[in-house]
Amino acid sequence: MRSTLQDLMRQLPAVNELLDAYGGRKDAVRERDAKLLTRLARRILDAERHRLRQEAEKGLAPSPRPLDALAFEMNRALTDFDRPRTHPVVNATGVVLHSGLGRAPWPDAAFAALEATRRYCLLEVEAEEGKRRRRDAFCEDLLVELTGAEAAFVVNNNAAATLIILNTLGAGKQIVVSRSQMIEIGGSFRLPDVFEASGCRLREVGTTNRSYVRDYEAALGDDTAALLLVHTSNYRIVGFTEHVDLPELVALGREHGLPVIHDVGSGSLIDLTPLGVPDEPPVQTSVKAGADVVCFSGDKLIGGPQAGIIVGKKEWIEKIRKNPLARALRIDKVTCVALEATLKLYMEPDSLFAKVPTLGALTESLESIEQRATLLQRALDKVLDGKGAALLLEDTSELGAGTLPTHGLPTLCVTLDIKGVGATDLARALRTGRPSVFSRIKDDLVLLDARTIGDDDVSLIAEALQHIVEDLDS
Ligand SMILES: *Cc1c(COP(=O)(O)O)cnc(C)c1O
Repeated sequence: MRSTLQDLMRQLPAVNELLDAYGGRKDAVRERDAKLLTRLARRILDAERHRLRQEAEKGLAPSPRPLDALAFEMNRALTDFDRPRTHPVVNATGVVLHSGLGRAPWPDAAFAALEATRRYCLLEVEAEEGKRRRRDAFCEDLLVELTGAEAAFVVNNNAAATLIILNTLGAGKQIVVSRSQMIEIGGSFRLPDVFEASGCRLREVGTTNRSYVRDYEAALGDDTAALLLVHTSNYRIVGFTEHVDLPELVALGREHGLPVIHDVGSGSLIDLTPLGVPDEPPVQTSVKAGADVVCFSGDKLIGGPQAGIIVGKKEWIEKIRKNPLARALRIDKVTCVALEATLKLYMEPDSLFAKVPTLGALTESLESIEQRATLLQRALDKVLDGKGAALLLEDTSELGAGTLPTHGLPTLCVTLDIKGVGATDLARALRTGRPSVFSRIKDDLVLLDARTIGDDDVSLIAEALQHIVEDLDS
């Protein structure tokens, strides 16, 4: 069998032969770089060798494809290469902050601000004297004004914020936290691991469902560096529970001269309670309660670019800024300008909900969602033309990104059903469609949630469905 396989391999063309064959074809793309074409030709030949080997191992009798078929592959390989690996999708999942789909959709103002970063821009220098300035100074005054804190610093994301805070305040020392707050935020962010990476010792106190001030107090020692409170964004402990809240922790910290860190996670800059979103206390509340350092994400409830925002007492923020990790975790110019533009929207609260899509989607009235759902239902019904059904269904959307796990938002969906096509297949066809549409499946039905789709998305979803129906017909 071995020699047979070697014979087969020898029948494959050399890279140059494949390139010549491709160059001789009518459909060959001529203006592309020879190096790129060579790489693609190698890839095609490697894949062909791999196929021959695998089929031979399975005891099949493989045969190499003819030269012309391999040359034809070159076109497909080029098209694949040119297609960007990410592209816009319609989010009809109903998950407002969908981490898989890039979390917060950006405000127009944030995107418009990117223009400034295209070439050279004022990033770490000021124009008057030509002197250096800190890039994080961009947003500091806005954050100070909006949160009421003394100072602010921004890093790459909230995981990075947690890391640099723990490392700055507690490396080689002990930080006390309640056992009920030992959270995991999706796969790679587990609080105990961040503790380890930051070089500080974790001292868990209390039990899963109950912790008291006396538990914290009993844990304090000479090497205690700080007290930590983590907002358990993505789960709730209900029932027989007792936990120490921020004011109590601040009082304890003051008594023992220890700083209090509050990881608020989602980080709203406005009080969302009157809008029907409970359990996400605004950052200002933590600052006012006396937390020394508060951290939160830029791309969760704030609805801006990915960032880890740290606000708090000057003394601590200065130390954090001087930590060598700050350089490793720093934000790039894109984040600087997009965050600035997003935060400025918060300075004009009257138009905030119209301009920050996350807040808009979160607080949209059911009537308004229903209007869009109805438009979508009619558009899809027309496309289906009897080949299936599109119906309205009341359901609940989620905030996502681990926020508000127990709080569904009432919404309206369109259920989509095509005769002879299962829900999983239909959802896949929508995801890989033109344009790509992400839905959710419930009770074996494909649901398109009108809360997370924009008005423009209605015709896009209809277009995607049109292609699916046409492909089925052919
Ligand atoms: C989301 C979250 C994080 C991680 O934030 P990223 O910005 O995704 O890095 C950390 N802590 C809490 C409490 C969170 O909710």
